[in-house]
Amino acid sequence: MRGHTVDGLTIQGVVCVADDRMYRRPEDLTRFFAALTNQPGRVYIDPQGVRDPYAAHGLSQALRALEAAETETRVRGRRVANWHWARAVEGVPHSGPRPFGWQEDRITLHPVEATLVDRAIDDRVGGKPVRAIAREWCDLGVTGTRGGRPNAQTVTQIMTAPRVCGYRANRGELLLVPESGQPVLGRWAPIVTPDRWQAVCATFSAGSLYMRRGSGAPRLTGQRVAPRFLASGILRCGVPRHDGTVCHGPLCAQKGRSRKSPHVYSCRDCGRCSISGPLADEVLERLVFSEAPGRVRPSDEVLHRWRAGELRLEEKRKTITSVIACCVVRAGVKGKPTWDHSRVVPVWR
Ligand SMILES: [Zn+2]
Repeated sequence: MRGHTVDGLTIQGVVCVADDRMYRRPEDLTRFFAALTNQPGRVYIDPQGVRDPYAAHGLSQALRALEAAETETRVRGRRVANWHWARAVEGVPHSGPRPFGWQEDRITLHPVEATLVDRAIDDRVGGKPVRAIAREWCDLGVTGTRGGRPNAQTVTQIMTAPRVCGYRANRGELLLVPESGQPVLGRWAPIVTPDRWQAVCATFSAGSLYMRRGSGAPRLTGQRVAPRFLASGILRCGVPRHDGTVCHGPLCAQKGRSRKSPHVYSCRDCGRCSISGPLADEVLERLVFSEAPGRVRPSDEVLHRWRAGELRLEEKRKTITSVIACCVVRAGVKGKPTWDHSRVVPVWR
């Protein structure tokens, strides 16, 4: 706070008519109080009366008011002025192209599409690669509600949209009934139960989920999400196909099932190659630091900064790809308890 108004009048305090206009988030409150109290002798008056902004209880009073305001905001559904939001709270399906799986009224199931979605979710939870599902849909001549051909991304969006189990979301956020904390249900017929929806969401990495990527039509903008794992896009599938050639599909990060491997890299092309995330990351790190005559090596400075923990993920990935073209991952042995580092075979630059 400069301590004076634009016209140069000294500010001696603040009279606040509606404190939810002043601060809605704790950060705002903190900033406001810090600014107000950076000089002595100021007063603060709000609808509850005069408060001492310098005393701890003045601050805690304000905090309580903030909490009350927050609760009220939630109850009112975030200022219902927003038309979409209001419709969402009522559980009314919103405008735009009809969602895949429902008819034009957005409430009645589309018998063919809904069956496809239902089966796709079953298949996916059963371990089928989403690319295979997309291919099946293509083979069946299925098109999206805007006429597009299904691909892994659009099918993922369709399966993981909360609407498939009747849950209402807006702007990527699940709507909750304030009193109970339970999800708001839409008026449309659901395709699967909430359990199934959660199960299918759990098979994807968070970044590919509908909830993460937002609503509307599946994105086809080509906009890329920054990789969140060290080896994303660097690993290639080394599993032989039936015709004897190697799959060579990219291994993508997804959520793992064990504590030891909270993420795994799996081939989305054939679905037959998967490696523990921490294991692959560890191998990559080792490879970057390994020395061999005639091989490109990152500068000592970079390696030093890596060791010191100063490199961001993107910098580490750049360092890796500066020396390694890719790594081919050989198929693992099912149920093998120890990590087999030799599964990752580097292709040096
Ligand atoms: Zn593969």
